[in-house]
Amino acid sequence: MKRLVVLGGGESGVGTALLAKAKGFEVFVSDKGTIKENYKNVLIHHEIEWEDGQHSEVKILNADLVMKSPGIPEKVSIVHQLIALGTPVISEIEFASKYTDATIIGITGSNGKTTTATLTNHVLKQELNVGLAGNIGDSFAKQVLEEDYPNYVLEISSFQLDGIQTFKPKIAVLTNITPDHLDRYDYNFEAYIASKFRIAMNQTSDDFFIYDADDEVITSWLEKHPVQSKLLPFSLEKKLENGACIDKENIKITIDNNQIIMPTKSIALEGKHNIKNAMAASTVAHLLKIRKQTIRESLENFQGVEHRLEHVLKINKVDYINDSKATNVNATYYALESMDAPTVWIVGGEDKGNSYEELFPFVNEKVKAIVCLGVDNEKLMKTFSGMVDVIIETQFMSEAVKIAYKVAEAGDNVLLSPACASFDLFENYEDRGRQFKNAVRNL
Ligand code: ADP
Repeated sequence: MKRLVVLGGGESGVGTALLAKAKGFEVFVSDKGTIKENYKNVLIHHEIEWEDGQHSEVKILNADLVMKSPGIPEKVSIVHQLIALGTPVISEIEFASKYTDATIIGITGSNGKTTTATLTNHVLKQELNVGLAGNIGDSFAKQVLEEDYPNYVLEISSFQLDGIQTFKPKIAVLTNITPDHLDRYDYNFEAYIASKFRIAMNQTSDDFFIYDADDEVITSWLEKHPVQSKLLPFSLEKKLENGACIDKENIKITIDNNQIIMPTKSIALEGKHNIKNAMAASTVAHLLKIRKQTIRESLENFQGVEHRLEHVLKINKVDYINDSKATNVNATYYALESMDAPTVWIVGGEDKGNSYEELFPFVNEKVKAIVCLGVDNEKLMKTFSGMVDVIIETQFMSEAVKIAYKVAEAGDNVLLSPACASFDLFENYEDRGRQFKNAVRNL
């Protein structure tokens, strides 16, 4: 019997453990932190051995195969020891994909993964039996075990891709690449780019690679490192014979001379970035032969994902918008770009070495006041103080929202788009977004 050790007892770890147990592995789950009560109960119920608060070397180093959860950095000592022993250390998608023949649509990128994956799933599920997994909802491994869908839309982080060997999506989507998570890549942007491109590394000429052709990081990498799969670019700027582009007021998608055309205006989501996400999702749907009418309708009625440019409330003709998931500058760039009224901008949190310059034109043009919300607001205050009339700092969401409420006038927007991680003041971006929404509702 082969011994599989799972490092990390979260959603992907527990899912992998269940699948592995069902496939006849001897399974051990080890988590250096605390495993949540509900996951512990699942492991106990399925008679899977586990530990938390430590990594016991004697029970780990004898593994035949190790699944490392994406949250655990490669630098940790136990992983180093395993690699030195020559033990394969893989990710959940690598492990689980061996047990399904489903058509896999893998979606990665620095920003837009969740939105594009959710939207793609929304379109496909109108006509196909499809599971949505990856960083979203129930783990891929668990769904392979319990549901065995014929199609999967997977949201895939670079950390998952670092642990693949044979994983091969039929359709890969790369939304964009901007510097993010560089701490996990020795501050080497090239290493991070290479990691994203692993999504295509096992693809053949029967597979498809959908990508943002306006993203120079992607296009210049592709020139130097061609992929084997068929290229289907999407672009807001270029005219494309193949792939998705803008033609007058329409999105035009061409695959092998088969075209679908739909008005950009009919897309429910706002912002240029969401037109790109819609292009990517519709290209997938078009490839999988979803009817044109279905694609059009699904894009019209998709209401978006919580914490991504989410409209919360209108109070005294002021629109309150929650973009708490904007944890880097690029995401905030698109949020500010999509603002069509004077905006009170709530920004800040844990800085990841941000450079804010690309936001300056939007700040000058659209932002009337800034509320800095973080433990350390100094850099933001310094960067933006000459640029707007009002700039105030606080450490409390309720206060940030009250200040915004006082400054905003009828017709304005109040936008929470932090451009920073949330961990200084909040548990995570969801907590930050929820606190924002509660504060708005309490006004
Ligand atoms: P991810 O899953 O990659 O983190 P999300 O869909 O959760 O991406 O969106 C994260 C943030 O990025 C949100 O603030 C969202 O408004 C913004 N965003 C969404 N799509 C894009 C895109 N294509 N390019 C840039 N920013 C985007």
